[in-house]
Amino acid sequence: METTRRGFLSAASLSAVGIAAAATGINMLTPEKTQASPKKMGKATLAKAQEPLEDFVYDIENGSEGYKSEGGTAKEATVEEFPVSQSIAGVSMHLQPGAFREMHWHSIAAEWAYILEGQVRTTVITPDGTTSTDDFEKGDIWYFPKGHGHMLQCLGNKPCHFLLGFDSGHFSEFGTFSITDWVSHVSPEIMARNTGLPASFFAKLPKKELYIGVGKIAVEPRPKNINPAIPYSNSAHKFRMAKDGVYQQFKGGSVKMVSSLEFPIQQTITSMLMEIEPGAIRELHWHPNADEWQYVIEGKGEVSIFGSHGRVKTMPYSKGMVAFIKQGYGHFIENTGTETLKLIVLFNSPVYQSLSLNDWLNSNPPQLVADHFGMSLEQAASLINHKDGIY
Ligand code: MN
Ligand code: MN
Repeated sequence: METTRRGFLSAASLSAVGIAAAATGINMLTPEKTQASPKKMGKATLAKAQEPLEDFVYDIENGSEGYKSEGGTAKEATVEEFPVSQSIAGVSMHLQPGAFREMHWHSIAAEWAYILEGQVRTTVITPDGTTSTDDFEKGDIWYFPKGHGHMLQCLGNKPCHFLLGFDSGHFSEFGTFSITDWVSHVSPEIMARNTGLPASFFAKLPKKELYIGVGKIAVEPRPKNINPAIPYSNSAHKFRMAKDGVYQQFKGGSVKMVSSLEFPIQQTITSMLMEIEPGAIRELHWHPNADEWQYVIEGKGEVSIFGSHGRVKTMPYSKGMVAFIKQGYGHFIENTGTETLKLIVLFNSPVYQSLSLNDWLNSNPPQLVADHFGMSLEQAASLINHKDGIY
């Protein structure tokens, strides 16, 4: 048990390190690069004034007008709204019964999603020649690799709400590749040749993107596709995170994690549900292999980051807000409210790695640690050694 806990929040397996290094393309410093920037070497670096830390919390639900139509709403946090978040963008989307986010793809980002309320049906086409239709409910996640064509539809007679995460902060939901946008801007004659429908049909199409359309409520069970001969893939895009995520209970909270080890298609993201009880903290730690992006489902708290050179910054957040912590930056989270702080957490790596301050201290000889801080050997020996993440 102890080994498992330690393995989960403190250390990564050798194989996991290997996968992460390959997937994130860690660059070794080349001699060429060293020569190209001599000013960054030596004492001058330490003396140099540092830029103040950027704001790292944004109110995605209230920060912008976003998109609104009869079928639903979409609000996003890209680098435009939330500049610090270079590697991850988020969208909060609501769809009304019968509404659908039209068939589209994203040229520069993979899409991840978590169902907050209601039910959603998705279709996706993949380059291996298969297609997939999956139904999702609260607590489920999906992952569509970059460029794979997909569609999202509210299922049932209640509205749905889901959070989308993209593995590029430069992505914009309002600048994706939608099927109506393409078809309506190609000449009707070409479209007639391409589809077999008359050119007069295409000539009448509005020359704009539908984005969120309103249609008939999706039926159960899942209907056959126009061409039922196109083979199905077996729910490769769906994972039940709330039900089947790797669960860890701590003194002051819990975590359910899904990495590429559990959900193989999720190659650019590790996702997590985290709960921090009132008065508890997610202890001081950092992630050597990933940026961290958070969305507050419920509750309120404060995130504190450490960016070297004496730079620390604390920002409060609450329901509907997002936070971003750069790779390698020290941080901790405190629940400052009276209810459980519930978070969705994304990392831009297929595997999870974390190092905690407490584990680090405890991994050194007591005299050495005592000499760092001027503490006694007794104090060094009494340092908390929970190997826990939230307490
Ligand atoms: Mn999409
Ligand atoms: Mn973290």
